[in-house]
Amino acid sequence: MSKITMAQGAGGERMQEFIREFVLKELEHDFGDIPLGALDDAAVVDGIVFTTDSYTVKPLFFPGGDIGTLAVAGTVNDVSVMGAAPIALSCGMILEEGFSESDLHRIMSSLNRTSRSAGVRIVTGDTKVVEIGAVDELFINTSGIGRRSTHLDANLERVRAAREFLWNWPNDSGVADGDVLIVSGSIGNHGVALLSFREGYGFETEVRTDAAPLNHLTESAVKVGGVVAMKDPTRGGLSNLLNEWAEKSKVGLVVREEDIPIDGPVMAACEMLGIDPLEVGNEGKVVLAVVPDAAEEVLKAIRKTPEGSNARIVGRASKDVEGVLLETQTGGKRLVEPPVGDPVPRIC
Ligand code: MG
Repeated sequence: MSKITMAQGAGGERMQEFIREFVLKELEHDFGDIPLGALDDAAVVDGIVFTTDSYTVKPLFFPGGDIGTLAVAGTVNDVSVMGAAPIALSCGMILEEGFSESDLHRIMSSLNRTSRSAGVRIVTGDTKVVEIGAVDELFINTSGIGRRSTHLDANLERVRAAREFLWNWPNDSGVADGDVLIVSGSIGNHGVALLSFREGYGFETEVRTDAAPLNHLTESAVKVGGVVAMKDPTRGGLSNLLNEWAEKSKVGLVVREEDIPIDGPVMAACEMLGIDPLEVGNEGKVVLAVVPDAAEEVLKAIRKTPEGSNARIVGRASKDVEGVLLETQTGGKRLVEPPVGDPVPRIC
């Protein structure tokens, strides 16, 4: 009898198969403007952007953040990348009996701090306590709602001035030939910080999580206009994100390795551990696809935000290639395959 494996929840190819088998086959998935079946960062129903995420990170506290930081940032970001302004969050907690009260105070204060920095309040919640062993210390689920950015219509007008665009929202299927790809900052920090801290490799003194709400950054981009898609490279990293866009948008993507920002200690850790930084999860980064004539302006706008100061143009969409093509530092070319699973489990 087949049983569920870790890889099926790890954000890569195995999870895509899992979703086809258990979600798309079992649930109705065509309701809404952006329905469940679109498998986007959030759904859009009656003009309301709606998303949910569960946080099972291990350990709960790590360099630069904790499960509370993630639980707010992750959900705010999934609402924001739809071109929406997040309004409010829910927070459901499942606690293991015996959990430390002082640790819970720390996590609650971090939930509050992060939600204040995003300007998005937690307005409803639920708490369950289960017996020892029934859950690993603490799991949190947050859901978020958002409303269409007031700049989104003008943003899409700028897209349509450049080319045909059929959707009413930025989304994973909207990328087309010539669109410019922007990454908002250095990648790999969250996964490497977690792994290093957990396993004691020593990189944790230099590498901290990037977890942060990005609603101000995405809004600054939408305000410029010309944004056709945004997505946060969480589980499966940049590699998974680009493959998802290429597949859903039916267009090739070309990225230049030398332009992808990766911090020195993150690169060193990845080389030592034999993992690909493109496959490592991030919690405070976004990738944007923008029509060519708006790209430099969008880049400039997001660089003015604290989370986007290191943003770069890393490539473009091209109908002349299939899948995701990486132009390497040495002048070669290699196909970026979607990761099978996440090289670092339980990072979010
Ligand atoms: Mg996402």
